[in-house]
Amino acid sequence: MGAGRSKKKGLGPAFIMGGLRRLYDSRSLYAQLVLTDDCNLSCSYCNEYTKGAPLPSLSVLKARALRLHVLGVLVFDILGGEPLLHKDLVPLIRHIKGLGGSSGNIVTLITNGFLLTPSLVDELGEADLDMMQISVDSARATKDSCKSLEALGTKLHMLARRASFKVKVQSVLTESTCGEYGEFRRLLQGLPFDFGFSLLHGPGGHLAIKGEQYVRLLREEKLFAGMNLYRNHAEEALLGDFSRPWKCLGGSKFLYVNAAGEVQYCSQNQRFRKPLEEFTTSDIRRNNHHKECETGCMLGCARLISHAMGEPLKTMKTSLSMLAGLKHKSRRERKAMAFTVEPENGFGDTPKR
Ligand code: SF4
Ligand code: SF4
Repeated sequence: MGAGRSKKKGLGPAFIMGGLRRLYDSRSLYAQLVLTDDCNLSCSYCNEYTKGAPLPSLSVLKARALRLHVLGVLVFDILGGEPLLHKDLVPLIRHIKGLGGSSGNIVTLITNGFLLTPSLVDELGEADLDMMQISVDSARATKDSCKSLEALGTKLHMLARRASFKVKVQSVLTESTCGEYGEFRRLLQGLPFDFGFSLLHGPGGHLAIKGEQYVRLLREEKLFAGMNLYRNHAEEALLGDFSRPWKCLGGSKFLYVNAAGEVQYCSQNQRFRKPLEEFTTSDIRRNNHHKECETGCMLGCARLISHAMGEPLKTMKTSLSMLAGLKHKSRRERKAMAFTVEPENGFGDTPKR
């Protein structure tokens, strides 16, 4: 098992002050850095992968991360395709964490988890990863996705025992997953995870689900605190009402860097594309405007950052509770967890309390 740390960088007053400055300055706060478009799965609802796509070299990815740091980014999402396909994922994360210096930064890895191994989990912890968002949609495979507890239950139990970073289980809400979500959560009861939803969208980011049943889930299930920043908008949108205004900060406070190294507004809008090395604070200022695709869009990450920047007071409260949750588990805490979580014997087991 990986060595434990006593204190985690990235959560102190200097980091919080940096985040507050982003509310008023002309720099970016949050970036999604795509490592590759290649993926080991092929979920039917996904348009963010290309089988066999190339893997940029570590030096290229480090240069992109450095450029984002210079542009002001404090929170990095590492994603794909499937980022675990990149053999240099761990050194890249170590590099990004090093960029934060004494003020720190936050790095989240977004993965389908199929390629996770115990040693990789330890290495990610030692590289100081803050959070892993693992995509698991349902208890059993559906026609849309095989990201189920049947396939990933063992990995989740392994994460519960070994991970020194926060783990968030993210589920794409669709017609097939909505009805059984309660059972899904019951099967994971007792595991030390956060939970979140991605609301199914079509091309262009437009919400592709509608109905009271989704609103009920948003209201009844305990979810990742970031959702509180746009919960009202999500509930109304799920009932077909998109009239509540918001301003998308894609290409401004929120940057999406595709696998070719170009900045886009988000994964779904390619109308703005500019090589990251040519992207400057003038672009950040220029892109701080309403987008024509805002009505109907429910892309979680862009929503979260846009609302956070638009409502500073609400953001401070939510951010502090999110930051408090990012505390690294010590070796002692993980050892205790090893005794409270059942062995890797299937998704249906309820862990001992
Ligand atoms: S695992 Fe993720 S990137 Fe790959 S096809 Fe499924 S949703 Fe898309
Ligand atoms: S509103 Fe923003 S996040 Fe949504 S699709 Fe348009 S550019 Fe992307």
